[in-house]
Amino acid sequence: MRQDHNRPILKTEAEIEKMRVANKIVARALRLVEEMVRPGISTAEIDGAVENLIRGAGAVPLFKNYPSGNSEVPDFPASICASVDYEVVHGIPKKTRILQAGQIISVDVGAKIDGYCGDAAWTFPVGEVGKKARKLLTVTEECLRSAIAAIRPNGRLYDISGAVQRCAEKNGFSVVRQFVGHGIGAEMHEPPQVPNYISRKENYDMPLGAGMVLAIEPMVNIGGYEVLTAKDGWTVFTRDRSLSAHFEHTVAITANGAEVLSV
Ligand code: MG
Repeated sequence: MRQDHNRPILKTEAEIEKMRVANKIVARALRLVEEMVRPGISTAEIDGAVENLIRGAGAVPLFKNYPSGNSEVPDFPASICASVDYEVVHGIPKKTRILQAGQIISVDVGAKIDGYCGDAAWTFPVGEVGKKARKLLTVTEECLRSAIAAIRPNGRLYDISGAVQRCAEKNGFSVVRQFVGHGIGAEMHEPPQVPNYISRKENYDMPLGAGMVLAIEPMVNIGGYEVLTAKDGWTVFTRDRSLSAHFEHTVAITANGAEVLSV
């Protein structure tokens, strides 16, 4: 990608304030998800409750009817992405998908209000989960925190990428490469791309500066980083069927450093 195509769209303080509102709705939705996740509940039931919360707040769910960009694949049918165990992202909620103790579920939520977007994701344990799954959740959350902590005014985009990659790999895990974080604002997906790894081949580097708003979203696998897409055209899963976790915050860069908006 050429650097000018990847140039961030800087936000004013007034725009960032609107993004605080959108992201607070997303954060509330994820707290509701955390309360609801338990053995026996379907992913469709969680989706319905989140859609009600978002619409009740006067916002619009960003993922509902998100275009697939492929005439063979229907647009995304739900308000959350619900990805269980070895599913990485973009899982479709279903009435028949009943959560079971010991599973992990990654839930991604997006909402738009007053012209501005919020986007965040979290992975939750379903009941008691095994030691490896617990470690995956702890490490992936730590990857997100260390990425945010790496943001400095006058820093570089690869500070974020490198922090995620180091945190995941020092714990023996891998970061997904095929999907990346992104700028966010009036559109959910804006430049720049925010990879969770450092690549010399692709020109991902740029200075960080006040007014940038980024959705930072490490996707971490216990096994290899390779992923595949299911026959439904949406659900992304690990090629080796190892467990995967996904934690995401929308983060504004201000003159004072990083501010997490999705809390
Ligand atoms: Mg995102």
